[in-house]
Amino acid sequence: MPQQLFTADQVLPGPAGERIRDGAVLFQDGTLLLVGPRADVEHLVSPTAERHDFPGGTILPGLINCHVHLVFDACGDPARAAADATHADLVDRADRLLCSGVTTVRDLGDRDGLAIQFRNQRPRGPRIVASGPPITIPDGHCWFLGGTADGEAELRARVRHNAELGADVIKVMASGGQITPNSPKMWDNQFTTAELTAIVDEASKAGLPVAAHAHGTDAIAAAADAGVATIEHCTWLRDGGGGYDLRDDVAAKIAERRIFACVAWPSDWRGFMNRLGTARADLVGSRFEWMAEHGIRMIPGTDAGAGSSGFDDYAGALQLYEYLGFDRADIIEMATTLSAEALGLGNITGQLAPGLAADILVVEGDPLRDLANLGRLRRVVAKGQTTSMTTA
Ligand SMILES: [Zn+2]
Repeated sequence: MPQQLFTADQVLPGPAGERIRDGAVLFQDGTLLLVGPRADVEHLVSPTAERHDFPGGTILPGLINCHVHLVFDACGDPARAAADATHADLVDRADRLLCSGVTTVRDLGDRDGLAIQFRNQRPRGPRIVASGPPITIPDGHCWFLGGTADGEAELRARVRHNAELGADVIKVMASGGQITPNSPKMWDNQFTTAELTAIVDEASKAGLPVAAHAHGTDAIAAAADAGVATIEHCTWLRDGGGGYDLRDDVAAKIAERRIFACVAWPSDWRGFMNRLGTARADLVGSRFEWMAEHGIRMIPGTDAGAGSSGFDDYAGALQLYEYLGFDRADIIEMATTLSAEALGLGNITGQLAPGLAADILVVEGDPLRDLANLGRLRRVVAKGQTTSMTTA
């Protein structure tokens, strides 16, 4: 493949605060070669390079969606969707993520390693970080994905099994959830701290991080004590239900241990908040502020596939953070540089720098002025492969 040169009004290479006006990016065969001012890059370009100028545009790193389920279909019956999921379904969902600017996804729960197989079979499309079947208790949250285990020996065996399947991360359902009939409540723990610690220990022997699904404050505390890498949802529900239990000591521990929180709200977060009602939505929103005040690093995801969360409009999902008062430059950093660090991909993607993967977005206008510009895509490049977009 010849070298590819992209130029635009600005390049936001990451992290927040970095901005190159009248910038350029040069890449070849999936790898970034040069990133800098156009005038500097231009005279180092091969004469055979393909050149694409994007006046009025911004070049930035491809976005990372840290929580999706490629085997679910966003139609409300995840057990059926997972049972019926085909390779073609996964192609469609991965392509939709790609066309919303997502060049890396973390799949946090498939059936029997389907997303892992898909990752192995399909070099095109977004980079996939996959967990395989989430570890859960018999009849527990998402038991139908095939990851049940009872007691420490079985839990350790399950971790080894997922590692052998080719998992990049171990997912554990530390609390109950919403989508499995006759399973523990969202605020109930599914595992003890000792069991979660055994999972983290066994995963670390395989060189894998652990992502813990935790809605209840008790489950969040147990996951933090066990030393997981990321806490999914992180809802802070009070034991027994009926409101929230924002424990400062637990939040401080999460921040101190540099554990990331992935709250994973859908692109249609406005509809979600409307259903909650204004008072409750404000309360829910204030949890984000409280976590940020404690120094908890948050990474975005959408839980795409679960509930009614679709695979499109990642830019819309990121606008939640703007609504909650986050700075636009910080939001872009959360969805790129910070997410890459959280997923252990900081030396592969999440920034535009020589030697990193050519995961590149070109968008209309300036997303630092209007975050919706992240959805006005002109090009998406994932691992050096370009998808041209037509914007409305
Ligand atoms: Zn999920």
